[in-house]
Amino acid sequence: MQIILSSNNVKKLQELRAILPAMDIRSCAEFLGKVEILEDGTSFEENACLKASAIYQLLEEKEGDLCVLADDSGICVDALNAMPGIYSARFASMPESAAEIARGCFTIPQVNSNDTQNNLKLLTCLEELDIVQSNASFICVIAVCMRIKGEFRQTTFRGECRGKVLKAPLNPQAFGYDPLFIPEGYTLTMDRLPEKNAISHRFLALQQFKDFLNCVKSPHLRL
Ligand code: IMP
Repeated sequence: MQIILSSNNVKKLQELRAILPAMDIRSCAEFLGKVEILEDGTSFEENACLKASAIYQLLEEKEGDLCVLADDSGICVDALNAMPGIYSARFASMPESAAEIARGCFTIPQVNSNDTQNNLKLLTCLEELDIVQSNASFICVIAVCMRIKGEFRQTTFRGECRGKVLKAPLNPQAFGYDPLFIPEGYTLTMDRLPEKNAISHRFLALQQFKDFLNCVKSPHLRL
């Protein structure tokens, strides 16, 4: 059985491989090139399912027995009423002020921005709200599409890592909002934390995925 990640994000793929080292996880780009999937769901779960099922449908005929994973993730900041959430990758293209965003008065952004632009938008929001830090959560939802004993199954697993966002130096090498986030119980930002892949939202969601596969007891998979 092939395990394929529905994503063009190299940093997500690296983390999935680090968290599940015994699995041979391949990027869908290896099979299909760059595929753009419209993420117009209203929750992490909906967007993760849209991404997993789109790639499953494109590959099922060609590749046969396969398991497609998708990761929809983001940061939910308490002071922004859980925003940017599912819009984390597109946050910098929101022109609205922090107060408007927190009140839910914004238009849904369409264009992704780079990590530095998104970090700067979050720092600007903290400044606009005149706060130095806010409690926040990283959320990761993993959607899985596969056949189990011939039956198509689509299911999701959610992981949450609680902590706080604060003003901190940017790090263009890091993944997403890691340079601005300190997990609960730690003093380092996520980009400098060696334990990230043992405590993260992604780790917690993938643990549930692993348990699920163990229950399914596929003879083709070694975990
Ligand atoms: P998605 O591709 O729509 O799931 O967007 C995910 C976005 O959330 C990324 O572009 C990052 O900005 C942010 N994000 C998700 N997971 C992490 C993480 O582990 N660290 C830092 N930022 C993350």
